[in-house]
Amino acid sequence: MKVAKKIVISGLVQGIGFRPFVWRIAQKYQITGWVKNSLAGVEIFAEGEAKQIEGFIAALKKEKPSLAKIERLRINEEKLICFKDFSIVESERKEEGVLIVPADLPVCDDCLRELTDKKDRRFRYPFINCTNCGPRYTIIQKLPYDRKNTSMKGFPLCQDCSLEYQKPDNRRFHAEPVACPACGPKLFLYDNEKNLIAKEDEAITITAKKLKEGKIVAIKGLGGYHLAVDPFNVEAVLLLRQRKQREAKPFALMARDLLIAKQHVHLNKTTIDLLNSKIRPIVLCPKKKSSNIVRDVSPDNEYLGIMLPYTPVHYLLMEQFEALIMTSANLSEEPIVYHDDDAFLKLNKIADFILTNNRPILRPVDDSVAFVNHKKPLFIRRARGIAPLPLHIPKMQEGILALGGQLKNSFAITKKDYVYLSQYFGNLDNIPSRSAYLKGVEDFCSFFEFTPKVIAYDLHPGYYTTELAEEKFSAKIKYPVQHHKAHLAAVVAEKKVKPPFLGVVFDGTGYGEDGKIWGGEFFISLNESNYERFVHLKYFPLLDGDDSIKKPWKTALSLLLETNMDHEEFTLKWNIDKNELNLVTNRFSQNKVGSSSIGRLFDGVSALLGLKTIISYEGQAAIVLETKADYGENSFYDFTILNEKLPYEIDYKPIILGVINDLKKGVRNDVIAGKFHNTIVEMIVKVAKIAEHIYGIKKVVFSGGVFQNRILLQKSFKKLRVAGYKPIFPEYVPVNDQGLALGQAYLANKFFLRSDI
Ligand code: ZN
Ligand code: ZN
Ligand code: FE
Repeated sequence: MKVAKKIVISGLVQGIGFRPFVWRIAQKYQITGWVKNSLAGVEIFAEGEAKQIEGFIAALKKEKPSLAKIERLRINEEKLICFKDFSIVESERKEEGVLIVPADLPVCDDCLRELTDKKDRRFRYPFINCTNCGPRYTIIQKLPYDRKNTSMKGFPLCQDCSLEYQKPDNRRFHAEPVACPACGPKLFLYDNEKNLIAKEDEAITITAKKLKEGKIVAIKGLGGYHLAVDPFNVEAVLLLRQRKQREAKPFALMARDLLIAKQHVHLNKTTIDLLNSKIRPIVLCPKKKSSNIVRDVSPDNEYLGIMLPYTPVHYLLMEQFEALIMTSANLSEEPIVYHDDDAFLKLNKIADFILTNNRPILRPVDDSVAFVNHKKPLFIRRARGIAPLPLHIPKMQEGILALGGQLKNSFAITKKDYVYLSQYFGNLDNIPSRSAYLKGVEDFCSFFEFTPKVIAYDLHPGYYTTELAEEKFSAKIKYPVQHHKAHLAAVVAEKKVKPPFLGVVFDGTGYGEDGKIWGGEFFISLNESNYERFVHLKYFPLLDGDDSIKKPWKTALSLLLETNMDHEEFTLKWNIDKNELNLVTNRFSQNKVGSSSIGRLFDGVSALLGLKTIISYEGQAAIVLETKADYGENSFYDFTILNEKLPYEIDYKPIILGVINDLKKGVRNDVIAGKFHNTIVEMIVKVAKIAEHIYGIKKVVFSGGVFQNRILLQKSFKKLRVAGYKPIFPEYVPVNDQGLALGQAYLANKFFLRSDI
């Protein structure tokens, strides 16, 4: 007997060849009807013998394309219409269900084969792609995902491409960005005065030649421009540093393949899997001593950020290079350049040449960045390849817009049971970054047809996002969230941690509920919606507020003055102007705020050792201290826990005295740095023991930017495991401030779960 069914599938089902797959199995089971993309995902009308329909539905679930993710599948009985065949019909806008927008994908193996096949009509075509690969999020203007809604709408298909696009058994069937040399985008190489130098394949040849001569070339990629430079050429690397006004912050490398990567960094199975993954992130790997990459590529640290090619242009170019510096093209702290006009306007002072193309990028997306933490990835920048894939958070309500913080920012919106965390937007302390962020929020809201009912934001009165929340955006409810609670909630949300647990949140600065600067925080959670401040680092005076972040010597001075140490003996080595030093010392009695920040303590110790007294990028002093530290060192400094009343306090004074004593004794910096790291680990273990004693807690959840420190991560993990605890780290949501938006959304949801929003 013939029956008819309507099947609605939600999840990651668009832009990955799902409809042709449905068409193919429909043929196999002799099903008639249609399939189409909708805002819900994919809708199917299927008619056939009851048995065949059953087999068809089972095959939908079992044989789905490897990239597909089915979140929900609903089946309804329908009246028979008696279709003659099965067809793929035009998409339709209709509001229901969850839609997952695909992230950008690296070139697939089939396309790579064609790219290097002389007989293929796409031989060396830099924009080759298919249903399994190519740009997605960066070229989709609006949903549903159809060519007319992408930045490919200006490239009408030629006859050959059109045939491929229409044939359900073709790999390019309904591949929206499909293109070829006859009809698709083209490459252009310009000099920095916008004179056209070369086109198409010749543009690649000349780009390679110029790079070999030590020139800087801006190259348009998926989510923005990169600046490319030869990493084996000292002058070229230093020229890039000088023109980009970037003193020491590391540059990322693109290696031709894994074999080349292996020559320069240590790899293991997890780093290899990450490098090869569809995300193709920059992976921070330990440098090899034998590597001949110029030291100035990553001067402060033992790690190199490395990635593999992911666009056809990269593959064509990397035929001629073992490795290239590929750093986001921007002006110092500004957002990545992705508009072609901006490339000529802003990058002409940095780049000698600009390799561009006429396929517009619709939204900026940086490269994602990760490293490996105990055989698992730990992303410290969530962007290309992940954004805008949502996180599934059960019981999440619709309508929350979480704005995040100020540094390394992102935002999030919630749909039923999902949080969509935006790509990375960087530091919001300059106007271009702020407008990019604002544009990003507007883009997301219209893209996902979202109207906020609740706005969650940071408690800090001085953040740009707080200003937006309070003055610019309108919503029924405004919900401020304490910074470190949001950090903790982000991990709880991602890893679905159930209370009771101890949360360890160490970072640079966050505004506390008492108006002080927090950052060395332990929380106890005994139920889902409440985090109680349990222990914190005893407040120490922070001189001149945020200026001390850029000048860690001020924190070192303040620690010396606070411990009543004679400071001249140390400050002499800091190379600080005497007058400024005296002025700051005299201000000590008035100009300070209390801070419990572990990040600042790291800064202070780094400066105290004379390692870094003034920094040129965020976190530099702590990174230098980590790089210096002797991993094999086992001893640590004393500290005391003051436990008369809750929250308990950890007294830092014995630690500083210990460091000073060692310095006076002439103990080497690497030993002191190692001991200091061990001390922080001991603190965590000690507090875990107290929490276990009082509350029987075994789970320890880690968050905050300080945990980008690998020594701290590894040693804490090991020590806690040995002591019988369960340490929990995030994976795909950064421990730094990019994770705040998720945590804010999670806590706002918990708070309002029982009321109507
Ligand atoms: Zn492909
Ligand atoms: Zn074509
Ligand atoms: Fe933070």
